[in-house]
Amino acid sequence: MTEIVVGASGFYHFQPSLLSTDQQAEILALLEKKVPNQRCERCGHEEIGLNPNVVSPQFLGIDTRAPDGTLVHPMVMTICRHCGNTHFFSLHYLGFSWPKAA
Ligand SMILES: [Zn+2]
Repeated sequence: MTEIVVGASGFYHFQPSLLSTDQQAEILALLEKKVPNQRCERCGHEEIGLNPNVVSPQFLGIDTRAPDGTLVHPMVMTICRHCGNTHFFSLHYLGFSWPKAA
């Protein structure tokens, strides 16, 4: 079960951030649908991996809000396994609800 903890700063902290194997497979399917045939634009390699953790950029402006109104913007990272070039994809815009209801 995923817990949402609101810290003293008012920021949401998702625990745990590690995606299950099923969640990773669902996200990979969404990525393949929206961004088919991924290839690293830096080095040309096709081995693009998905980091199994949900991440969020740190918002520095106090008035910044994610599309759902929270102060976090859940994302996943894809990483070129050859050169390390990294991309972030918003789970919201991918169509993946996070955290998932238990
Ligand atoms: Zn690369």
